[in-house]
Amino acid sequence: MSIQKSQAIFERAKAIIPGGVNSPVRACRSVGVDPVFIAQGDGSSVWDADGNKYLDLIGSWGPLILGHGHPEILDTIKDSLSMGTTFGAPTEIEVKFAETLRAAVPSMEMIRAVSSGTEATMSALRLARGFTGRAKIIKADGGYHGHADCLLVAAGSGAATLGIPGSAGVPEGAARDTIVVPYNDLPSVERALAGGDVAALIIEPVAGNMGLVIPKPGYLEGLRELTKKHGTVLIFDEVMTGFRVAFGGAQARYGITPDLTTIGKIIGGGLPAAAFGGRAEIMQKLAPLGPVYQAGTLSGNPLAMAAGLKAMEILARPRTYERLEQLGQRLGDGLLAAATGAGIPAVMNRVGSMLTLFFAPGPITDYETAKTSDTKRFGSFFRNMRDRGVFLPPSQFEAMFVSLAHTDEEIDQIIAAAKASVVD
Ligand SMILES: *Cc1c(COP(=O)(O)O)cnc(C)c1O
Repeated sequence: MSIQKSQAIFERAKAIIPGGVNSPVRACRSVGVDPVFIAQGDGSSVWDADGNKYLDLIGSWGPLILGHGHPEILDTIKDSLSMGTTFGAPTEIEVKFAETLRAAVPSMEMIRAVSSGTEATMSALRLARGFTGRAKIIKADGGYHGHADCLLVAAGSGAATLGIPGSAGVPEGAARDTIVVPYNDLPSVERALAGGDVAALIIEPVAGNMGLVIPKPGYLEGLRELTKKHGTVLIFDEVMTGFRVAFGGAQARYGITPDLTTIGKIIGGGLPAAAFGGRAEIMQKLAPLGPVYQAGTLSGNPLAMAAGLKAMEILARPRTYERLEQLGQRLGDGLLAAATGAGIPAVMNRVGSMLTLFFAPGPITDYETAKTSDTKRFGSFFRNMRDRGVFLPPSQFEAMFVSLAHTDEEIDQIIAAAKASVVD
């Protein structure tokens, strides 16, 4: 397989874009290869600049639940395009988008649209702080909520620790009010909340950014009870899980109602859109109604709203999520069997159509246990799969995504590739 053209583009890219990429994980460093540059996508597949075809399990990191270039989404974008692309004034499609989103996720009583998940979480936290008049926030170790300063915080040692900056350029002051707790551990949350000074707890209700980690039975319920008791705003970060693990997101799948929800990825239909929303009493603190400032030149962009609205409409059709569940199960079972059949310790963590194969004996229940994985083996697995025409997320600590465009036959091809790729 030649990736000569990709390599030539990568050389040009590195000369002008730091690391040659506009988002770090695309550089494929943790799996020890150079990235391929993608020229085109269609359905379940992408083609690189050299014309190599790959079955795609990244789906642009989650948004493309309908596959690449879904014809109805493309038609919708074309129709919207002919009316103009942005106005900086309100449009009806933003209202329809919010109404449709609220119908799917009823806890989002009021909604504001933004352009990225990072903006959604950053804004939701400011709002929670403005609403409660408190400064501290709690997040889980290994939880990713975009790259706002106060969220780029790593855990120190110990069970529940005050954060230390997880990136150069994050001042200690920004990290000081962030308390980091292990995922799936309620006692540490209880201790962190005890002071009564925590504005918000932000959590991925199914963690997807430390590899996939499933909430233990009772964990989300416990978070709901504890935050309620202490007057802390419970934020479900459903940027990844929204419309992924169920039509109504993880909160519908597990039956828990958060105070605020952040959502993105799928709701943009492949264009940049995200949103945050929740209890009206809290959302009414936002400018221009209230004192919490938040804004965006391209927020509620009509093209993105139209694409996202259409995606939500398509996903609302019958049997969509049954089909995603079947495809996810077929892939998850097949990948696990490929590893264990070769005598390799492995764990499959899966919720619906998002999944991670960990090369570890397991169980994987938080970031500490996720980190016991054999990342060297994952690197060779990734490279072997890419050579066999399967495009996996280039890190052990990411989730794979199946789309409605994948067929059973393609899933079986991926499994066959995995059987060969885990051993060589
Ligand atoms: C992707 C993601 C984000 C950040 O969204 P961007 O659009 O990349 O800024 C935030 N939270 C979660 C859970 C995510 O998966």
